[in-house]
Amino acid sequence: MSLIPKDIKKHFPIFQSNPDLIFLDNASTTQTPQLVIDKLNDYYTNYNANVHRGIYQIGEKATYEYESVRQKVIKFLNCDDSFTAIFTQGTTESINLLSNSLPQLVLKEGDEILISEMEHHSNIVPWQLACKRFNVKLKYIPITTEGEWDLSNLNQLITKKTKIVSLIHQSNVFGTINPIQKVTNIAKSLGATVIIDAAQSVPHSKIDIKTLNCDFLVFSGHKMLGPTGVGVLIGKTNLLDKMPPYMSGGDMINTVSMEESTWNELPWKFEAGTPNIAQVIGLGSSIDYLLKIGMDNIYRYEKSIFDLAIEKLSKVEGFKIFGNPKVKGSVISFELDGVHPHDLAQILDEKNIAVRAGHHCAQPIMEKLKVSATLRASFYIYNTEKDIDQLVRGIVDAREFFTF
Ligand code: PMP
Repeated sequence: MSLIPKDIKKHFPIFQSNPDLIFLDNASTTQTPQLVIDKLNDYYTNYNANVHRGIYQIGEKATYEYESVRQKVIKFLNCDDSFTAIFTQGTTESINLLSNSLPQLVLKEGDEILISEMEHHSNIVPWQLACKRFNVKLKYIPITTEGEWDLSNLNQLITKKTKIVSLIHQSNVFGTINPIQKVTNIAKSLGATVIIDAAQSVPHSKIDIKTLNCDFLVFSGHKMLGPTGVGVLIGKTNLLDKMPPYMSGGDMINTVSMEESTWNELPWKFEAGTPNIAQVIGLGSSIDYLLKIGMDNIYRYEKSIFDLAIEKLSKVEGFKIFGNPKVKGSVISFELDGVHPHDLAQILDEKNIAVRAGHHCAQPIMEKLKVSATLRASFYIYNTEKDIDQLVRGIVDAREFFTF
């Protein structure tokens, strides 16, 4: 029995409007099923109103739909009462919120923040800025050329001085599923606050936040079949309660006088202004869709697609994979001998095959690999064996073209 509906592409209108499209850039963003588009349409058509404000019917309906997604997200990650969910624009905004607000609670001069060389820029740059503001040191868990963390010096990297640890769960370059608990357990035992960038793991596998030993977990809606412009920050309420607000303005206050203001309760203290209402509501439908297929099925299906891709691509002359992590999701970073990644991506694009060429917002990894760019094919539930065959054929043709 197939793990995934055979006609799954039919659920995604983009494949009807672009019947030849082979979309293999899912680590960047994913396609939107009709049911999510319908949900957005329903909001704008039938109950477009602000949330938490109007006591009229459509306002109450909008608030109800928006807040039900919060409950859905909390359940999706198996959070208990010690956590709440805050809606943001995406992973990037979630990390910026944390890097601005959390240091005010936990950092003092001379402390340290730990991240890894595998991070996406959105989990590097905000901490570099925080380090400058608070005069603290940024340390990195090194990576190997296999695309794994080198944890051999972990005891020196995490000490009592380490106050924040912010780490990528699944690599957007290698697909590595990091042994996150090995680090979070030590970090927590030494009193650090732990953040997990789960932008690439939440869409592809079943995540139970309780097993990860973290205080915060962040991800983006658009990488899990949801709309753009919505993300989530799951966080421990005892910390969020004490943290100062990030953005300020309407809805995040309790009282405002000419002299000072007091804050709304959680989670709204961190949701200033009119939120991305339609997008949040759309995200709820994408979670429904993923759950209907089943996160374990998604993981298994992607693994089978990935294994097939590796088997077929490895036979292509001149094909080289970057990294060989032991545990990984369905992302392949590669190069073709003698062909610049951007040239190959362009040739593939002429055959309607969308892969990514570039540094994947992870320049420290490129530095480690001593390349300026790689090609990346990343898969999701709608990719098929036929897509892989097209990719292989495209690469073989390109090789012939360039070696002619
Ligand atoms: N972290 C990781 C691991 C990612 O892959 C991405 C997106 N490529 C981000 C963070 C940033 O996500 P967004 O652009 O949705 O904020």
